[in-house]
Amino acid sequence: MKVLTAKDGELQVADEVRAILAYLDDGRLMVSKSHVYNRHVRGFMAKLKHLKREVRVEECDLAAIAKLYDQASGSETHSNMQATAKQLFERAVEKRASDIHIRVSSRNRTQILFRIHNDLTFIEEHTFEYGSQLCTTIFQAMADVSDATFEELSRQDARISMRSRIPVHLDGIRIATSPQVDGYIMVLRLLYNDATNDLDLARLGYSPEQVACVEILKRKPTGVVLIGGPTGSGKSTTLQRALGAIIQQAQGRKHVITVEDPPEYPIPGAVQTPVTNADSEEERSREYQMAIKAAMRLDPDIIMLSEIRDNPSGRLAVQAAMTGHQVWSTVHANSAVAIIDRLTDLGVNPALVTDPTIVAGLICQRLVKVLCPHCKQPLADHLAEFDPRTVGRFMRAINVERAFVQNPDGCDKCGGSGTSGRTVVAETIVSDESLMALLRQNDRLAAITYIREELGVMSMLEHAIRKINEGIIDPLQAEDVVGPLAENHGDERLALVA
Ligand SMILES: [Zn+2]
Repeated sequence: MKVLTAKDGELQVADEVRAILAYLDDGRLMVSKSHVYNRHVRGFMAKLKHLKREVRVEECDLAAIAKLYDQASGSETHSNMQATAKQLFERAVEKRASDIHIRVSSRNRTQILFRIHNDLTFIEEHTFEYGSQLCTTIFQAMADVSDATFEELSRQDARISMRSRIPVHLDGIRIATSPQVDGYIMVLRLLYNDATNDLDLARLGYSPEQVACVEILKRKPTGVVLIGGPTGSGKSTTLQRALGAIIQQAQGRKHVITVEDPPEYPIPGAVQTPVTNADSEEERSREYQMAIKAAMRLDPDIIMLSEIRDNPSGRLAVQAAMTGHQVWSTVHANSAVAIIDRLTDLGVNPALVTDPTIVAGLICQRLVKVLCPHCKQPLADHLAEFDPRTVGRFMRAINVERAFVQNPDGCDKCGGSGTSGRTVVAETIVSDESLMALLRQNDRLAAITYIREELGVMSMLEHAIRKINEGIIDPLQAEDVVGPLAENHGDERLALVA
């Protein structure tokens, strides 16, 4: 509801007239009951008639009119202040703060602090009035309880959960207030939702060794780190989380620019540049190339490219690494080693691609469905249902006693699907000169042996087998994703008997 006769309203009236009437945007004319025949009221009604406005006169007392004007100006202050408050929340989320402290003191003005990584950080200072308006708006106009009044002298709790009032990365904000010697304090706890709170790759299914490996890659000052996998292997999610974690750890000291076609997730703290307006594949490639070049001129520390998919993007990624940047990207490849092949297939200079200071890390991943923990069934009880060759592979590759298979009927907990979500099987490599030398010589077999035996890196297949033995994934479904768990031999019949 708007008061059209408010000070900055549509219809201007003198102050003395405003004291006895209020014209609302729904056509109601609120008139003080003792002023119904007042000449100003008569005059204003004539004016409305002349303007062909709808008029329904309602009598009320003077206090009610004053209150209408108060609410009108109050709601405007609130809406401005709400925007300010929301910006404050956004800034806190960008810095991955866990809490916002607003200290309002008549002596020391208003101080705003963020708690970032457990430490309180001073953000800015304002007047006492500013703090007072900010806290009142947050409590009265943004919190869930609609009729709450902010009382400076008492301890109060509230919560903001309406989506339009909080940044997308939050599920809600918990408010606690308390008086202090010369004012009061309001503490806002930011409740992050999983999508961004969870920057830990372990939650995606990466093993502790693999997480440690990615940590090493994050700390390399320069070089390209590539995440390979087929379409739908979740590589963009991994990329987004790794980058999110880098930004969080850098606490604003790194300038991170992304070039994305198209941007998939918001990455707080990164400057995300989309590739736009491309009709043909050729034009898209050109736009993408131009966006990468532009990003390199913007003084970045870290560049993220959504994908290396053609020669120009491959060359530019290498060039960015050679000029002292850290570059993260994805590439369509079936294994960590195949990432190098993919780059040379795209026509990127093999000498550069196999330089460990340029291509610093190789990650590859796939996704496998997670067995529903409530209804999965021991593999041992179902061995007879598989063909002998399959049983033979299972016997050789996995621990048949510990493995589980999907219940085709599912249960209530999994909605009859037998699975719940997906998990990553991956391989992660910090490249070094010996490995790259073998790849330069095109000795794939020696390279793979070196990776396993010298670098001690678990392959995607081995990662899958580990998860089968932990009862997390179904062995047949794992084979669909990573290939046969073992070679087929001629002794399947023996295996079946055993
Ligand atoms: Zn189930």
